Amino acid sequence: MAPEEPSSHSCQAVVLHCIDFRFKKELDTYLNQRFPKGYDLISLAGSCMGLLSDEDHRKLLLEQFQISSRLHHPKTIALVQHEDCGAYGGSGAFRTPEEELEHQGQELQKASVLLKEHFSQHQIETYFIGLSGELVSM
Ligand SMILES: [Zn+2]
Repeated sequence: MAPEEPSSHSCQAVVLHCIDFRFKKELDTYLNQRFPKGYDLISLAGSCMGLLSDEDHRKLLLEQFQISSRLHHPKTIALVQHEDCGAYGGSGAFRTPEEELEHQGQELQKASVLLKEHFSQHQIETYFIGLSGELVSM
C-alpha cells in the first residue's frame, strides 16, 4: 500500500476518549467543528488511564493509533479526559474540582509524552470536558 493515499480516505485527527455516554453529544459537536473533515475515534474506559496504567491496554491503544495512522493519515492526536470518570473513582476520589482538573491535566501530559515517542510527526491536542459540557484545552 502506498504511504500517500488520496485525501478522500484520510481524516484530520484520531481522538481518544472514555466510553462515558454523558459527554458524547457535546464532544461530537466540538470535534465536528474542530475536525470538519472527520476524525477516527478510539474509546476506552478511563481514556489516558489505559495508556499509563495498564500494559495490555497500552499495547491495544498504541495498535489502534497505528491502524488509524496507517489507514487514515490523521495529522493530529486529540486526547480527552472528563469530569467524574468512573475509572478514576469519579469526582469523589478528589478533594476539590480543582484537584480533579489538575490530576487529569497531569494524565493528559503524561499520555502526550508517551504518544510523542511513538508518533513524533503528529500534533497532540489535549482536552478536559466537564459535566456541564464545557470543554477546555489543557
Ligand atoms: Zn470515564
